[in-house]
Amino acid sequence: MIISPWYHEIMNKLEDFSDDINKCSKCGLCQSVCPVYKETGNDCAVSRGKFVMLDGVLKGDLKLNKNINKYLDLCLKCGKCTDFCPSGIDVCKIFETAKYEYANKTILGKFIFFLESKLVFGNFINFFKLITKPFRKSIKGKTAKCLKVIYFKGCANNLCPRTDIYLKKIFENSDIQIIEKDFDCCGLPFLSSGNLERFEQVKKHNLKMLDCDFDYILTDCASCESTLKQYMNAKFINIGELINLLNIKFKFPKPVKVTFHKPCHLENDDFLIPLLNNCENVKYIQMNDYDSCCGFGGEFSIKNRKISKAISNRKAENILKTKAEYVITTCPGCLLGLQQGLLGKKNTPKVCSLVDFLNKSI
Ligand code: SF4
Ligand code: SF4
Repeated sequence: MIISPWYHEIMNKLEDFSDDINKCSKCGLCQSVCPVYKETGNDCAVSRGKFVMLDGVLKGDLKLNKNINKYLDLCLKCGKCTDFCPSGIDVCKIFETAKYEYANKTILGKFIFFLESKLVFGNFINFFKLITKPFRKSIKGKTAKCLKVIYFKGCANNLCPRTDIYLKKIFENSDIQIIEKDFDCCGLPFLSSGNLERFEQVKKHNLKMLDCDFDYILTDCASCESTLKQYMNAKFINIGELINLLNIKFKFPKPVKVTFHKPCHLENDDFLIPLLNNCENVKYIQMNDYDSCCGFGGEFSIKNRKISKAISNRKAENILKTKAEYVITTCPGCLLGLQQGLLGKKNTPKVCSLVDFLNKSI
C-alpha cells in the first residue's frame, strides 16, 4: 500500500501519545469495567497492561511485533475503559495508532487494508446499494415545516433494504422527511483494524454528505452513531428517540415479554422505557447486567473466538433468566453477539433489532 504524505501530516504517530501513555497511573480501575479482563483475568487484556507494553516499545525496550499486536487485538473496542479512566486517556485512539503502525509493517496487515479499501469493500457495499435500490422506500415530508432527518443507514442496512420498509411503515403518518445520502461506512471497522488511512477517507467523504438543511442525523446502529460523533459536529437522534419525539404508539396483537441489551456504544438508553410504555401488550423485563458487552466486537470474535463466545454465553444466561420472548437491541453487531451466545440453547427468545420488533405490531 502506498501511504500518501497527506495522511502522515494529519495522523498521529505512536510516539505522539507518549505523554498520554505516561498519564496512566496504573490504578487498575479499567480492570473493573473491561469485559475481556473480567473473562480472562489477564492484565495484558486491559489498557493498563497494554500501556506498559507500548511504553516499552517507545523506550526501545520492546519491539512492536506479533506478540504485542496479539494483545492489541485482545480488545473489544467497547470504550468502557476510556469512559472510566480517571486520567482521561483516549485509550482506543492509542491502540488504533499502534495497530496501524504494526499492520503497515506486515504483508497480512497490508492485505487486510487492501480488502478494506474503497476498491474492494467500498465497491462490495456499492453493489448491494445498487441491486437493492428498487426495494428502498423514500419518505417525503407532508408540509414545508416537516422535521428533516438525514438517515445514516450503515453497512448492515445497506446490504438489506428491510429497514427502509419498516421505517416507511413506522413514520408514514408523521410529518417527517427522511433524506437519503450516499454515505460510506461510518469507519468503525477501519479503526478496529488500525486502517487509519481508510478511516480518514470515509470521514472526508461522509462529511461532504452533510451539504443540505437538516435537523438531525438519524441512526439505528449505536456503533455507527458513536463513530460518526467522533468527526461530525451535528445533532444526532436514534430511531427510538425519534419515535418518542413524534409520540408514535404501537399495539401488539397479543401480550409479549421483551428484554433489552444495551450496546456498549449506545450513549443513552433513556428512550427505551417511554417507547415501550407506548407499546400496548408489551411487558419489559430488564435482564441482569443489561449493559454488559455481548462479546462480539467485529474482528474480535474472529481473532479471539473462545473468549468472545464465553462473554456471549454469560450474556445469554442473563437473557434466558428473563424468560422473555424477544431480546431487542440497537446495533447489528450486537445482534450477532446475542445470537452467538444463544446458539444451541433451549427455549431461546427471538433476537431482533428495535425496528424489527416494532414491525411486529399492528
Ligand atoms: S483506569 Fe486509566 S489510569 Fe487507571 S490503570 Fe486503567 S488506563 Fe491507567
Ligand atoms: S476498550 Fe473495552 S475491551 Fe478494550 S481494553 Fe478497554 S474496556 Fe477492555
